[in-house]
This record gives sequence, C-alpha cells and structure tokens, in this order.
Amino acid sequence: MAAHRLHFLLVPHIGPGHSIPMIDMAKLLAKQPNVMVTIATTPLNATRFGATLAGSINAGLSVQFLELPFPAAEAGLPEGCETTDKIPSLDLVPNFLAAIGETADKYHIPRIMFDGMSCFNELCCNNLYVSKVFDCLPESEPFIVPGLPDRIELRRNQLPAEFNPSSIDTSEFRQQARDSEVRAYGVVINSFEELEQEYVNEYKKLRGGKVWCIGPLSLCNSDDSDNAQRGNVASIDEEQCLKWLDSHEPESVVYACFGSLVRVNTPQLIELGLGLEASNRPFIWVVRSVHRSNEVEEWLAESGFEERIKDRGLLIRGWAPQLLILSHPSVGGFLTHCGWNSTLEAVCAGVPLITWPQFAEQFINEKLIVQVLGTGVGVGADAVIHVGEEDRYGVKVKNEDVKKAIEKVMDDGIEGNERRKRAKELGKMANKAIKEGGSSHLNLTLLIQDIMHHANATS
Ligand code: UDP
Repeated sequence: MAAHRLHFLLVPHIGPGHSIPMIDMAKLLAKQPNVMVTIATTPLNATRFGATLAGSINAGLSVQFLELPFPAAEAGLPEGCETTDKIPSLDLVPNFLAAIGETADKYHIPRIMFDGMSCFNELCCNNLYVSKVFDCLPESEPFIVPGLPDRIELRRNQLPAEFNPSSIDTSEFRQQARDSEVRAYGVVINSFEELEQEYVNEYKKLRGGKVWCIGPLSLCNSDDSDNAQRGNVASIDEEQCLKWLDSHEPESVVYACFGSLVRVNTPQLIELGLGLEASNRPFIWVVRSVHRSNEVEEWLAESGFEERIKDRGLLIRGWAPQLLILSHPSVGGFLTHCGWNSTLEAVCAGVPLITWPQFAEQFINEKLIVQVLGTGVGVGADAVIHVGEEDRYGVKVKNEDVKKAIEKVMDDGIEGNERRKRAKELGKMANKAIKEGGSSHLNLTLLIQDIMHHANATS
C-alpha cells in the first residue's frame, strides 16, 4: 500500500464464469478514489479480456494486467489450455486444477474470497457441509436443507460436485478450496442485499460480518460496446443482432443460452431446438456443442430446422453478446442453465427465466429463482448431468416440457404478468443498488474502509 492508496490484486479463477465478473469488479474498484487494481492472469486470458478492459484503461483508470506464465506443460496440459473452456479432454481437469496454485497467505495479505455465487448458495453449501444431512439418503431422496429462512428441498443428485461426485475426481482440489474459503478474511458477493436479504443476514452472521454484496457487477458496463464485448469476441455482429431484436415486438423474444461450459448431448440439444420451435415464439438460440458440432450442424441442415425457423429464429454459433441481448426490450424470457452470472444478468434486465440447471450450484440457483424470488419456471430437469458424461444421459427433458415452460413464462395471463412484474421490480432494485445511495454502492465503500483500517492496523 502506497500512502493511503489501496492496491487490490485480483486473481480470478481462469474460466469465463469467474473471470467475467472479476474483470467487472476490477473496473468498479478502480473507479474508487485512491484505489488501483492489478489482475493477475495468464497471457492468453489477458489477451482475451484485453478489449474489455481497454476502455477503462484509456479512460485513465488505474487498472492493469499482471501476466503470469501458466505451467501448462509441467501440469501435463497442451499449450494454450489456460481457461476451463479450453480443456480439451475432461480427464485433464485434475491437471488443470493442479496447475492453479495459491500464495496469498504467505504474505499476510487479507485474502478476500470471490467465488462468483450468491449468499443463498453460500449458505446452502455451508449448511450442507456442516450438517451432511444427505449422507445416508439415497441420491434421489428429497431432504430439506437445514438452517435456511425458507423450506428448500433438494436431492443429493442435484447437488454440486463436492456433495455429489462425478467420475472425474476433483475432491483434493475441492477440499483445498473449502479450507482456504473458511480461512479467508472475508467474502465479496456478486449480488445485492435486496435480492436475498435474509440470506445475506444469515451468511453475515456466519462470517463475522465480513460479507460485502457489491453487485450486480455486470451493471458496471454502461454502454453497448462494453456489453457486446464481455468475456469473448461475439460470434455475431453487434449491429446485426440489434437489428434483429429491433424487428420484434417488446417482450416477445425467448433467448436461450447455456453459458460457457455446458455441453448438451446431441439428442437433448435437438429436443431443446424442437421445444423452441414448438413454442411458436421468436427466439435467439446460442447453439454451442463444441464436442459434437458436426452432428448438430448435420441435424440443423438435414432436418430442415434452420429453414423452418428462419423467419423467427436467430441462431448464434459460438459466443453471444449476452448483456446486449438481455437488455433489449424485445426479450421477454431467458432459457438458462442457471449459472449465477446469467441469472443475475437476467435479474438486472428484469427478464423472467425458464430454468434448466445442469450441474455445479445451478439447481440451488434454480430454487432461488423459482421458489424464493418467483421469477422463473423450470423445464423439469431433475438431476445433475455430470460434465464429461453427457452422452450417458440421453434425453432427460422432452421438447414438450421446454415448450410448456416457455408458454408459462411468456403467457400474458395473471400468473405470467405477476411473474413479469416481480422480475421488473427486482431489475429496478438491482439498478438502484449500484448507484450512489444504493446498498451495493455503500458496501463497496465499506469494503474499502475495512481493508484500509486493516492495513493501518497491521502496518
Ligand atoms: N456469456 C456470454 N455469451 C455467451 C455465453 C456466456 O456473454 O455466449 C457470458 C454470460 O453473460 C455470463 C457468463 O458468460 O456473464 C457465463 O457465466 P454463468 O455463471 O452464467 O455460467 P458458466 O459459463 O459459468 O456456466
């Protein structure tokens, strides 16, 4: 710390779902007086996120990358495998995790955890760790998560990998992560208090008060070009996308995207496409099937799907400008895998959700959306599809299920309208939270004051 100047070192876990909000956080912190920010990452990630940060650097913010070589070869990984979405084969996941080390404790720097999830999820997972309530139950037997403000029912086969292991053994890494999580000085959360107040209060009690909700971080991107460039280069021209959206009625379009990591097997992907088609609504579908793209392309062409939907469907193959799309007034529903970033981005845009969780904490997020917030309808996904084992599951959700959930969300009867109203109210609250006088704005100041105080006390 130079005299009264705080220097934050951000070390994002190197996968898009973690790096994207952390880059947003870097911008937000760097806008504060007397704060500078360094993001430690690998050369390829620095390049990938360079464009996103360029505007902030040009605007004179004190934010920079520190490029550290990634020990790919030492860990038995191919060159260039520097993010989770670049791991070529899933049996290399443990090698990837081994290549990520941690050093903060050594230098007595207050280490603040950011795992990119909600207080609802943090509290759920903590209570699951502590109670092990599911331990002797069959994997499909429902149980109530203890100690939560609401009655949340889950099954072991819906839980994140630390409680519901897959065939890829990541237990050693997860235990280390849990240990370092418990030892962290505090926790920064990409959420805002009004969204999940009771859960924030409970989680604060658990962590001795050192929990700061400073989100939604995506709202630090104020213009279309920031929104279009987030996380990767979009596979569709920004103008073309906006033109397509402009040509549709307000709240009429369904946007379907499963984040950066989900790999849906081909028969299931086809059901999803057919469900979108059967919904009879205009839609944008981000078709990503890295490992099976030939099969999917063949189906799109040979079945006549692309031809049939061409007047009301827009397919994006690759990376979509998600923030740009979600914030467009013609979008009326978001079919999502319930990744936390996507969930919160929809909250900000006031868009109701069609939920189709796949793995990690996504079933927990679905509970928050559907049950606690009342802004979504599930397609009926009932258990985790373990990463790397997708082909084993075949079709779990039928196109009729997708259609039904879309109809419910897009419907303009009483239920649909109330859901939409709730979503819009939350959207307003989210936008208020990050402005001056809002809860997240205040929490950011409190975080900086706390660290400043800590630094003064220990220097
Ligand atoms: N994203 C995007 N375009 C895409 C896919 C994803 O911009 O085509 C962004 C999305 O806006 C979100 C992040 O990538 O910020 C995905 O994070 P999330 O937590 O939703 O899911 P994950 O990828 O971690 O499963």
